[in-house]
Amino acid sequence: MRFDELTQLTGVSGYESTVREKIAADVRGFADELTVDAIGNLIAFRKGSGTAKRRVMLAAHMDEIGFQVIKVLEDGLLMIKTLGHSFLHVAYGSRIRFRNGTTGVVSSRVPAEKLGKDFTDLFVDIGANSKEEALKHVDVGDVACYVGDFTPLVGRTVVSKAVDDRVGCYMMMETMKRWPKPYHDVYYVFSVQEEVGCRGAKVAASTIRPDIGIAVDVTPHHDRPGDLEGSNRQGKGIAVKISDTSVICDEGLCAHLFDLCRRDGIPFQKEVLYVGGCDASAMNLSWEGVRVGAVSVVTRYTHGPGCLVDLDDVEAGIRLLGALAGEEIRL
Ligand SMILES: [Zn+2]
Repeated sequence: MRFDELTQLTGVSGYESTVREKIAADVRGFADELTVDAIGNLIAFRKGSGTAKRRVMLAAHMDEIGFQVIKVLEDGLLMIKTLGHSFLHVAYGSRIRFRNGTTGVVSSRVPAEKLGKDFTDLFVDIGANSKEEALKHVDVGDVACYVGDFTPLVGRTVVSKAVDDRVGCYMMMETMKRWPKPYHDVYYVFSVQEEVGCRGAKVAASTIRPDIGIAVDVTPHHDRPGDLEGSNRQGKGIAVKISDTSVICDEGLCAHLFDLCRRDGIPFQKEVLYVGGCDASAMNLSWEGVRVGAVSVVTRYTHGPGCLVDLDDVEAGIRLLGALAGEEIRL
């Protein structure tokens, strides 16, 4: 399955079934076992051949941030809440699409320049002029995601909705295909509900009880004006996470990942965030405690309809995951 196809699927937190079915169909031939647990994680297990193999859990989340209808108003407009962290100023003016194809534009009951942080200031206009008309297309509880085509930009950069974290799903799928005979027992977990608190990975880790957990996700850029401070540069290689606000990665595992990159000539950068989190935190605190790391792709304008990513960074990440799964890990 291609990366662009993955980004265009709808899979808002808690409603990942379409994404799960597509990924399952795509990787079925590369897994010894394929299971779906009660919360909805897809777990693809590949048995390892190594004599000193470990249980390695890789986790990339299928869900994307989205919106859910809380009320259909008399005039046909929809009140919404967010599933996952969205920015009001990004949502305002954007198109969103429901799973039945109904599309709407996000607008506001207050002037745009007076928008605060309360999502109930926003409404969605699907073109209906009455509650009765709107209810023919949407209902309370329906979910929608951003509309955002996959488009190549200059150089190796592409833009799309839902790069977070279909890019991680894609990297794991490619790793399964290109390195079908891992050294370790590898559990490729396509997790659910990361954007609302890493819920899926928590459940999967308690079932799998991994020795090592690696989140495969995105990380925000620090190379454009007006945003967070830090060292993340798009197009400068795969990021190996050292810490964010949810997790401090295992020092030995970080060193191992750096060594693999240096040895194989994989471009990489060191990632430290003072905001944000990822599935590594859930794995870290599971069972009796798990050594964790994270492999991240630097993205710009992440939780919106137009997220930028560099395809060479993605390729570097796939190579690093292949190297990690392919040989003994001495910590
Ligand atoms: Zn993510």
